[in-house]
Amino acid sequence: MKPSSLKIAKRILFLSLTTIGIACLLFSSIAALSWALGIQQEVKQNTERETTVQAPVQSSPSSMHSSSASDDSEDWQLVLVNGQTKISDSFSVELETIQGVQVDARILSDLQAMIEAAEAKGLTLTLSSGYRSKERQAMLFENAAQENRSLGMNPVMAEEVAEQSVARAGHSEHETGLAIDLNGVLETFADTEAYRWLQRHAYEYGFVLRYPEGKEEITGIRFEPWHFRYVGKEHARKMRLLNLCLEEYISYCSLQKQHVSPLES
Ligand SMILES: [Zn+2]
Repeated sequence: MKPSSLKIAKRILFLSLTTIGIACLLFSSIAALSWALGIQQEVKQNTERETTVQAPVQSSPSSMHSSSASDDSEDWQLVLVNGQTKISDSFSVELETIQGVQVDARILSDLQAMIEAAEAKGLTLTLSSGYRSKERQAMLFENAAQENRSLGMNPVMAEEVAEQSVARAGHSEHETGLAIDLNGVLETFADTEAYRWLQRHAYEYGFVLRYPEGKEEITGIRFEPWHFRYVGKEHARKMRLLNLCLEEYISYCSLQKQHVSPLES
C-alpha cells in the first residue's frame, strides 16, 4: 500500500470509529434518559399508592370512613380508632341487634357463628357491650371524671385518670360497632375456658383480642381479655400468625403494599 493510500485508509478507519462512538454515546444517552424517566414514573406511582394506602392508617378522620379514601371495599375491617386516632365525625354505621346489644350489621353472621360454635362446646359467650354512640361514650367518660372529682381530684387530673380506664368520646373502638365486650367485662375472664377457646378459635370468625398482654405500649390500653374486635377472617388469621396487634398489622399491610418486607426494614 502506498503511503497516501495508507493515510486515506487510516482516516476512513478513524471516521468509522468516531461515527460508531458517537452512535454508541447517543444510544446510551437515550437509554439512560428513558431509564430515568421510567424510574421517575415508578416513584410517582409508588407515592400515589402510598397516599392511598396510608389514608386509613394515619389519623385522618375525614378520610377514614369516606368511600373515596380507597377503592378497597374491605378497608372498613381495619378501621383504626385509638387514643391518637379519632373516629370520623361523619362516621355512620348500620346496626343490628344480637343478645340485646347493637353491632355493625356486617359482623352479625360471623359473631352469631362464633357464639354458636362456642355453645356447641358447652361454652357461653354473652355480649356485655357492642356499639356505643359518641354521646354515650362522652357520658361514660364524664361519669368517670365526675367520680374522680368527687374523690378530690382537680378537673385536669380527674380527666387524666378517667382516660386510663374510659376512652374519650370519638376515641373508643366501640363507636365503630366492630368491637364487643364479652362475659361481664371481668379481668377473671382470662382464666376461663371460654377465653381459652376464643384464643384458639376467634380468628376463624374474624375476631381478634384487641388489647393483648405485652402490646400495651403499642395499643395504649392495658390487657382486656373481654374486648374483641372484628377485622375479618383473613386479617384475623394473619394477625394471629404474625402475632401483631391492630396498630402493628396496619403498618405491616402498609409496608406490604409498598412492596417492602417488614423483615427487611
Ligand atoms: Zn370494650
